[in-house]
Amino acid sequence: MDKRACPCGSGAAYADCCGPYHRGGPAPTPEALMRSRYSAFALNLTDYLLASWHASTRPASLAADDQTRWVRLEIMASEAAGAQGRVHFRATFREGRRWAVLEEASRFLREEGRWYYQDGNTSMNRLKPGRNDPCPCGSGRKFKACCGVA
Ligand SMILES: [Zn+2]
Ligand SMILES: [Zn+2]
Repeated sequence: MDKRACPCGSGAAYADCCGPYHRGGPAPTPEALMRSRYSAFALNLTDYLLASWHASTRPASLAADDQTRWVRLEIMASEAAGAQGRVHFRATFREGRRWAVLEEASRFLREEGRWYYQDGNTSMNRLKPGRNDPCPCGSGRKFKACCGVA
């Protein structure tokens, strides 16, 4: 796993990207934390998702999700000011043949040197990629020649 490309799509190896945060190292920015949480969703690291969630909004538990495959993360904007941060992102996923994009404007809080996810405004859009459309996974290939291969 460590030498493989990080699920967050940064282009770096997992060991040089989100891996150290999953092992307990503090993420230096809200964007880095957001990336590591996306990777944790992709890898089903529910303990990490809970640990990086601010105590004021953290759910009591999270069920592992084997149905959802997270295929692409796009960070649209991110900022940090003092102990507060914001990240606007789009995350593309599929469940079998169903595709969707989750878009969220997230808020983050820093406490004692660590960033935590606080909450976000989320919207969900179904995707219906056509055979000749660009693949929603971001590969640059046509859907029919990429994830749309039957
Ligand atoms: Zn990463
Ligand atoms: Zn694809």
